[in-house]
Amino acid sequence: MKCGRRGSDGRFFVPGRRRHFTWRGGCAIIRVMKKFDISRKKAFVCDLDGTLFMGPNPIRPAVDFVIESTNSGRFCFFYLTNNTSKTPAEYMKKIAGAKIPVEPDQILTPLITLEEYIREEGYRSVYLVASAAVVKHMDERLRDVGVSFGFDPARNELAALAYDKELTYDKLQKLTTLWNMRNGGNAATGLKTVEGGPIDFVATHPDNCCPSEAGPIPDVGGMLKLLETTNGMKPSHVFGKPSPSLLQPVLLQFAKDEIAVVGDRLYTDKAIADNAGVDFVCVLSGETTPADLERYEGTPPAIVVETFDKVMEG
Ligand SMILES: [Mg+2]
Repeated sequence: MKCGRRGSDGRFFVPGRRRHFTWRGGCAIIRVMKKFDISRKKAFVCDLDGTLFMGPNPIRPAVDFVIESTNSGRFCFFYLTNNTSKTPAEYMKKIAGAKIPVEPDQILTPLITLEEYIREEGYRSVYLVASAAVVKHMDERLRDVGVSFGFDPARNELAALAYDKELTYDKLQKLTTLWNMRNGGNAATGLKTVEGGPIDFVATHPDNCCPSEAGPIPDVGGMLKLLETTNGMKPSHVFGKPSPSLLQPVLLQFAKDEIAVVGDRLYTDKAIADNAGVDFVCVLSGETTPADLERYEGTPPAIVVETFDKVMEG
């Protein structure tokens, strides 16, 4: 993998940047910040897609490192995903299927934030655009407070968009109709406003695309652009990375300098690390390329590695 060129002193130099990186043969263990101290770390918050998995397949060196470190007790791991196409139980199954020992409280997903939001706002009628399994999961989680999930323009208090791999035109039309009916109707067509005031609309995460073996595929960010283009519909809240609220369970257990977020995306994974004030380990096994890092204008990641396991060599 070509990442730049080596200087006469053997150090690796990225064109156009004054910063020197240490080149250690093979490919990129590119250390960019001296403050990163692996011996201080106790907990890694791991992104999944592009970091531990590529689609359904484990990124083997990274997964083997997590298994060995879990079994030896060297590090605690949490699994952070913006991908709301699956339930936490499905992620447990996916992670356990790669032979990684995992407990429910290690899974961090925006569905947890959405559940908390619905509870805090006291909503009882929600139109959730999500896969059938995710709607069933949310229905079960919120049954104790009597929340109903379904398209009901007269009663819906919240419209929510998750990463729905069963998305249909009918669901998109219902979302926009709900917004139109609750936000002024449409005099030209005779569509009447339903009483109850403007409807709240939230999205589980902002990702523009999901990495896959076939390259980027549509995700919630793209759907949000489609909706905004259609009728100006915009979410009041977008959960998931980069919102640091997802890291709260980890921050309650560890000091900030004991934690690092590991991920393949600068605009979500690094952003949540920055927002929470913890180190970021950038892996090149997913979306971010060396060229992206060259163009990146923010503070550099604490360390950049080809795959997560290489972090021990940093
Ligand atoms: Mg990722």
